[in-house]
Amino acid sequence: MTKYKFSSRVPLSNDNPFGEVLTVASKPSIISFAGGLPAPELFPVAQLKAVADRIFDDDGQKVLQYSVAQGNLKLRQLIAAYMQTRGLTEDPANMLITTGSQQGLDVIAEMMIDPGDKVISERPTYLSALDVFKTYGAETLGVGMDADGMKMDELEATLKQNPDTKIVYVVPNFQNPTGNSMSLARRKRLVELADEYDFIIVEDDPYGAIRYAGEAIAPIRSLDDAGRVIYTGTFSKILAPGLRLGWASADPALIAKMTLLKQFEDVHTDNLTQCIIARYMQDYDMQAHIDQITAAYKERGAAMIQAIQDYFPAETEFTRPEGGMFIWAKLPKNIDIDQLFDECIKHDVAFVPGAPFFPDNPEVNTMRLNYSNRSVEEIKSGMKTMGTVIASLNQ
Ligand code: PMP
Repeated sequence: MTKYKFSSRVPLSNDNPFGEVLTVASKPSIISFAGGLPAPELFPVAQLKAVADRIFDDDGQKVLQYSVAQGNLKLRQLIAAYMQTRGLTEDPANMLITTGSQQGLDVIAEMMIDPGDKVISERPTYLSALDVFKTYGAETLGVGMDADGMKMDELEATLKQNPDTKIVYVVPNFQNPTGNSMSLARRKRLVELADEYDFIIVEDDPYGAIRYAGEAIAPIRSLDDAGRVIYTGTFSKILAPGLRLGWASADPALIAKMTLLKQFEDVHTDNLTQCIIARYMQDYDMQAHIDQITAAYKERGAAMIQAIQDYFPAETEFTRPEGGMFIWAKLPKNIDIDQLFDECIKHDVAFVPGAPFFPDNPEVNTMRLNYSNRSVEEIKSGMKTMGTVIASLNQ
């Protein structure tokens, strides 16, 4: 057998516990709250098909040709106009189109991280961002959070001990996995700390447009004038994740490096997809579509909160998101979450155990619940079943 000489970046183990959870939970009979999937019945299938037809009719040869690494200029202009409505004024020249925001995170890590460099994130945080940072050799450190996001006093204490930290990674709106958002005061403090400790803030914002309660909070990038924030956005949750289209916006010196690295990775993001989304934004009312998603998720989120109150033990702690797709719950300490997961699967219902979302010091009695991918009726019945299983283990 050949003994392959893998690079030191490659994980030694092929274990993928999170992937296994999602595979088990994807059995059709299961009511799954495990994944992070948007509601497929809300994808604008007919409109996107019509747009694709128009593109092939009008510009078939052009769209099938190679394009530029930074991405379609028209699309960048349309995203800039959209981001203006979200409180961020951005020059399209300071934007890079990426193959999903996941690629944006990868390119940022490649640009900034040498083995041993430190990345601080919320604890818990988006698992696949941690995986990317670790693949480039980063040491990841967690900072606790509450309903107002990452705790700035704890961040400052961590920075004092790790003043060479290169990146602070945050998901400031309706965070994956907790659903919590970072307050304006903490966003401002984070920018001050970035100046003081000379780090880059990665502001990962897939969910910010899906707000169904409370007031919008200014993007962190809009609060910084020193070029220390890289914003990553995506069409995955507001349009369709299969299109794999995202963007990054940042200081031109950073975008220039990221554009080069992205070109080395995949030349440019699929040109047809870029043209489809640009034309969709021109020919249709994307905001009306986002409003429709937001209204549906509001109902589903409320149904899940009600179900936690109705069916879970009274001591359960849980978040009350004002948007996005996730609720985070902490069950009584005596419940073994892995055992609960196995029992739930037997009863055709699934969630994701919380431990893998922690960069360090996992809290083992936690779970992430996704409400975007199921109807209100399914949420009620699935949560009722889960409540019964929890009660049977909570002796
Ligand atoms: N960041 C966060 C916080 C996410 O939850 C996700 C998707 N689940 C991504 C980035 C990646 O999204 P995509 O590559 O589809 O844009």
